[in-house]
Amino acid sequence: TKFTDLPLIAPLQFSLKEAGYETPTPIQLAAIPVILEGHDLLGIAQTGTGKTAAFSLPILQNLSKHTRKIEPKSPRCLILTPTRELAIQIHENIEAYSKHLNMKHAVIFGGVGQNPQVRALQGGVDILIATPGRLMDLHGQKHLKLDRVEIFVLDEADRMLDMGFMQDIKKILPLLPQKRHNLFFSATMPHEIQTLANRILVNPKKVEV
Ligand code: AMP
Repeated sequence: TKFTDLPLIAPLQFSLKEAGYETPTPIQLAAIPVILEGHDLLGIAQTGTGKTAAFSLPILQNLSKHTRKIEPKSPRCLILTPTRELAIQIHENIEAYSKHLNMKHAVIFGGVGQNPQVRALQGGVDILIATPGRLMDLHGQKHLKLDRVEIFVLDEADRMLDMGFMQDIKKILPLLPQKRHNLFFSATMPHEIQTLANRILVNPKKVEV
């Protein structure tokens, strides 16, 4: 199976061709159709399996199929990831895949000045990639609203737990609309992570690679 066999729209097919991707990885093959159909997803996969494209491509397609005017500070999709490095990687991937789409994205993380991040949010974004601490910080300062999030991605959930972000995540969840599309990724499923997944996901399809 090639990417051209998957029901991805032309602007994404162009970007994949430019990136030199021909063959989807197993997680991409399994997850892309499930996400395109709007199902919640539990993905058990490590970094290096191609999981970033597995969620980014169908998210871009779903957002561009149901266009909505973006408002300042209010992302349509929130991708939470534990580290600055992962946040930057996801942002770079989304930048490449969305080149032929009209989609605004921003990345926020701690350890750097907040002003450029605040300006990006003020300008309005479709997709926000964030680490939990800076997200809470900017939300607390009213630079960010989460009540228009349509798609929520929790990436590397087990690492979030190891890094002590569980309290932040539990504070972020009630800030999101109740009705939303949820994607949950973890390399391992210890009890606490399974409990968190049960709390977030509604009738999820499970993809394990
Ligand atoms: P990830 O697991 O999302 O961190 O991706 C691992 C690496 O594989 C990244 O550098 C991607 O750009 C690359 N990659 C992801 N999917 C594919 C694919 N289907 N074909 C070739 N390279 C890919």
